[in-house]
Amino acid sequence: MDKTYLAGVIGYPIKHSLSPLLFEFLSKKLKTPVVYLPLAIKTNELKTKLKNAKDLCVFSGVNVTIPHKEKVIKHVDRLTPTAKSVGAVNLIHFKNQTLIGDNSDVYGIKETLKEHKISLRGKSVILYGAGGAAKAVCTAVAQLGAKKVWIQNRTTVKSTKLCRFFSRQFTKTQFSSLSLNKEPKEKIALYVNATPLGMQGFPKKSPLTSLACKNAFAFDLVYRPESTVFLRDAKKQGLQPIGGLDMLIWQAIASWELWFGKVSQRQKLKKALSNYIRKKVL
Ligand code: NAP
Repeated sequence: MDKTYLAGVIGYPIKHSLSPLLFEFLSKKLKTPVVYLPLAIKTNELKTKLKNAKDLCVFSGVNVTIPHKEKVIKHVDRLTPTAKSVGAVNLIHFKNQTLIGDNSDVYGIKETLKEHKISLRGKSVILYGAGGAAKAVCTAVAQLGAKKVWIQNRTTVKSTKLCRFFSRQFTKTQFSSLSLNKEPKEKIALYVNATPLGMQGFPKKSPLTSLACKNAFAFDLVYRPESTVFLRDAKKQGLQPIGGLDMLIWQAIASWELWFGKVSQRQKLKKALSNYIRKKVL
């Protein structure tokens, strides 16, 4: 009989997570038996529960979601260079009784930009938000050669802190804080919304100003709903909108490949998975 693998997603609350649905689809489609569990774990339980899971030696890995992406760092044995760069972990690989913290959000962002044939080398980006997802964006766009990253956040001290953290790591990319509702004078190639504005249960607002550069790309990390105020505003202003579903799917495929091996026909698989999620929940 085929081996059945065990994986899951840890967060609190966890009911909202689409990961169990993504992995259920991948397991069926790729004919690999995987039991993928939504695991509601509170912050004060992280250390013990992770240690217990490690000792049991039955997990291939777990995804990590809100509110643990940063807090989990001190409970893993080591970090990949990507997770170290971001300062956040969204998946843990259980390997030979070692917990390795990684970050596939960076991969999800880069793969989405690649799919849309966006080149950032020498170009400028505006990033809205300074939380965990925004940090993954900073690493991704700096790795892709962006010349300048403007970070705008409701709480300025957090955007300033992010600018310092990433300026130290990526010396060829300039990171600067941008005041609320301001637009720099230079040409912008990409706008990224890494706030939950527009997401179900959050204000239906967009951080984009009316002065945004035409023809630039506007990437919203929010995927539920699929059509957000940010994307609609961007389209109205002549920008090219990109929703958050692509990133969500690519980061899940990256987790799958790390735990269960490479998949073939990735584009076809990604398309099938997007259609499945659209039909089921969006
Ligand atoms: P987070 O760590 O909680 O950070 C949220 C950020 O948004 C903070 O900078 C916060 O500002 C800002 N913010 C929150 N509410 C706001 C409001 N009402 N008005 C203006 N700014 C507000 O969250 P996260 O993990 O970075 O996630 C951010 C978004 O990205 C979420 O919608 C999430 O679903 C999405 N995401 C998508 C993917 C994907 O695969 N597509 C992956 C990860 C995340 P303060 O600093 O002032 O609090």
